[in-house]
Amino acid sequence: MVAVRAMTRVIETASEGETERAGEEISSALPHGAVVFLYGDLGAGKTAFVRGMARGLGADPEDVSSPTFTIVQEYSGARARLHHVDLYRLAPPEIEDLGLDDLIDGQDLVAIEWADRWPGRPRGALEVRIDSLGEDRRRIQVTGPA
Ligand code: ADP
Ligand code: MG
Repeated sequence: MVAVRAMTRVIETASEGETERAGEEISSALPHGAVVFLYGDLGAGKTAFVRGMARGLGADPEDVSSPTFTIVQEYSGARARLHHVDLYRLAPPEIEDLGLDDLIDGQDLVAIEWADRWPGRPRGALEVRIDSLGEDRRRIQVTGPA
């Protein structure tokens, strides 16, 4: 994993599009090989944030969804390749079998939803926590590695 510069930001959004733009903006600050862990309840907006990241990297944002059967998706953009992982349906032993350590040691960007389900997750990732403030409002807290 390529270390991300330490940073702390709090962004409040009022629509899915604004959350996408937050992801787009953050992606432009990330070096190749950076890893983003996303936390937050179902419907918080994690996938929306990753969709913005994909757009920021020059990939097609329409490819970004929460797939039922695919655990890892890959988007190729002009600027970089992004691997999008959703751990929601997996138990820790299954997560250990995914080979995420190899994935995050590569040159590509990696975004992992429900990263808290991966007990052995390494340090050094950018952490994005999204909380609902009611209706369409969300608070997005972005924290670089301590
Ligand atoms: P998650 O991946 O965290 O489960 P999604 O990104 O798939 O969440 O879905 C977020 C849902 O919340 C979408 O239906 C979206 O339209 C809705 N939504 C409403 N307001 C916002 C907002 N400010 N940011 C992101 N999503 C929002
Ligand atoms: Mg999702």
